[in-house]
Amino acid sequence: MQTKMLIAGQLVAGEGPAEAILDSATGKQIASVPSASTAQIEAAVAAAEAAFPAWARTPPRERGTLLLRIADRIEAEAAAYAALESNNTGKPLAAMQADEMPSIADIFRYFAGVCRAPQGLAAGEYLAGHTSIIRRDPVGVVASIAPWNYPLMMAVWKIAPAIAAGNTLILKPSEQTPLTTLKLAELFAEVLPPGVVNVVCGRGEPVGRVLTSHPRVRMVSLTGSIGTGQKILAAAADNMKRTHMELGGKAPVIVFDDADVAEVVAGVRTFGYYNAGQDCTAACRMYVGKSIYEKVVAELTSAVRSLKLGTQQEAGVELGPLISADQRSRVAAMVERAAASKHMQVTTGGKVRAGAGFFYEPTVIAGARQDDEIVQKEVFGPVVSITPFSDVDEAVRWANDSEYGLASSIWTRDIARAMNVAAQLQYGATWINTHFATVNEMPHGGFKRSGYGKDLSVYALEDYTVTRHVMVKL
Ligand code: NAD
Repeated sequence: MQTKMLIAGQLVAGEGPAEAILDSATGKQIASVPSASTAQIEAAVAAAEAAFPAWARTPPRERGTLLLRIADRIEAEAAAYAALESNNTGKPLAAMQADEMPSIADIFRYFAGVCRAPQGLAAGEYLAGHTSIIRRDPVGVVASIAPWNYPLMMAVWKIAPAIAAGNTLILKPSEQTPLTTLKLAELFAEVLPPGVVNVVCGRGEPVGRVLTSHPRVRMVSLTGSIGTGQKILAAAADNMKRTHMELGGKAPVIVFDDADVAEVVAGVRTFGYYNAGQDCTAACRMYVGKSIYEKVVAELTSAVRSLKLGTQQEAGVELGPLISADQRSRVAAMVERAAASKHMQVTTGGKVRAGAGFFYEPTVIAGARQDDEIVQKEVFGPVVSITPFSDVDEAVRWANDSEYGLASSIWTRDIARAMNVAAQLQYGATWINTHFATVNEMPHGGFKRSGYGKDLSVYALEDYTVTRHVMVKL
């Protein structure tokens, strides 16, 4: 197994303490990955800095050609990437292969093309006798920090737009899930000029902190928790780094009385529990019109009971374990606190699955109220709460009454009402009669405490560039 980091085009073993990498479905160790020493982080920043001038001036067509080569290689080895990711995180292998791998390869293809098609204001004479030109230039050395829930996909969401735009980058995967990023590092060593992408491993403290607070890093992008985002922002103030934050979520799912209940139930059964609910856009906070509330609770409960929880390659498995014992304890504690209240009912699940691995049963909590912790705080596990509402205004008010602002959905047959409510929601994404789907051409990212900055789409490319004005006196 490839456990070396990538610095200046060379695969090198970390010189810091080793991290035990577990299979979340068994709890057993599958690898040991040494972390970066401070000297190695310095070397990675120096390598990215040295590679920057040439890479920034490499024509987009040539950068794009290399990105296309990366996409082809990922596609050719998709089965190996999927197996590695699934062995580490416990994700169902079939879902990893069918859902994540095609999109991961395509992200490189998308940015290979789009970096050649810049958009913006036209050059012109805005002051007599002077021509103004707008340039979009790369920011410089970028440090990117990835989480454990979609380790490879989140790494690629960061890497592809940043390097397509001409930046150089140092990526740190989560200490719990570095394996697929390290396999990708091996590919970068072959395909990209040295230093364009560097990969360092280790925990948030010290490796993430030292990297993201480095004075010669010009921009930091993070997908992670609000707490980590706050630490990075505080450190970024020192030298005015640009930041790009993709933090948590608590997606409201507003179901009006005229919605197709079968569609809603099938949708939430999938989109509330995919990746064991460890997804910042998970359909986890339902608001349901009073006249269909009892029906939705009953039908969702029985649908969720039929979800198949299991190990990576079990036949028909639909959801796997949580990433770690700690994450499972967090989820279990939140459900226990909800169950202890008099007004909420755990209608299915609510239990740790006995035996090996970090499994938690898919759970439905009915009767939740707006100020309950289970409605206000991100669980990041297979848990959906349901709250009845009386009218449209109440549904919109409660949906927006959240510190998060990443994703939301509206379920109704009345398209005018859907559009009217969509216009009032304070979320980066709103789906109508579905939830969860992302496409590489459309932006992903939130506002409020979910952060800012967009992944995917032309907006990600913009985020990784600076707008410059060049004026010529004629
Ligand atoms: P986390 O914040 O604990 O860790 C994320 C990454 O940050 C890890 O690589 C970690 O090592 C690193 N890190 C921790 N402390 C750091 C520091 N001081 N400096 C630099 N790096 C540091 O989050 P997690 O538990 O890995 O991921 C789950 C969280 O990520 C959830 O809150 C989830 O909602 C969020 N998330 C958001 C999105 C999105 O697109 N908005 C996507 C996936 C996950």
